[in-house]
Amino acid sequence: MVDFCDRFSLNANESSPTSLDVLKLNEQPRIISLFTSECSEVKTHFVDTGGFRGYVQCNARTEGKCLLCNISQKLETRIVLPVYDVETDSIMAMLISSTVSPSSLGPQLRLEMERGELDKRYLMVSRRFDKYTVRSAPISDGAETGEATIAGFLEQIKDGRNSLDGVIARLPNLDLFDIPQIERKATALGLRKQDYEPASAVSTDG
Ligand SMILES: [Zn+2]
Repeated sequence: MVDFCDRFSLNANESSPTSLDVLKLNEQPRIISLFTSECSEVKTHFVDTGGFRGYVQCNARTEGKCLLCNISQKLETRIVLPVYDVETDSIMAMLISSTVSPSSLGPQLRLEMERGELDKRYLMVSRRFDKYTVRSAPISDGAETGEATIAGFLEQIKDGRNSLDGVIARLPNLDLFDIPQIERKATALGLRKQDYEPASAVSTDG
């Protein structure tokens, strides 16, 4: 259940639900368990401006237009999948690219989902450069399976207190104009900041 006023709050940032930490993968395998195939698909752009380096959400869906699309910044789909991470005993978000190759993460996780019995085994996931390795390991008797953590998370998702999309930062178009590197590209292409003002200009304090 969501509070009606929160749901329609004009200042979305203030009432925005919490989001998960991203599971960063490297050569040390992380032991995870898959408990859902429900994920979120987010259109993203990679931004590297010195001050900020990472993926941000494409603004086309939320604002009707996207400055990063309009300066031809590459658009990439990221799939956000919540998983249970054993070493932190928490739910973390895996960011999965839409790349389909034997060494990419998405197809390997799909195979594991199809094999099933995910409540009886962990997956050990590691990454070397852009090659991912997924191995299966049986859950030993009495081992922590994160049942309570998972149940708590599913409750949060159900009542809107946690958002998978929120894992990827959102920078409104007007904020993007404040980044000099992006602003210079926009100006060069004749794009004007005032054309990105939200259509129903809501005055915000501060
Ligand atoms: Zn975009």
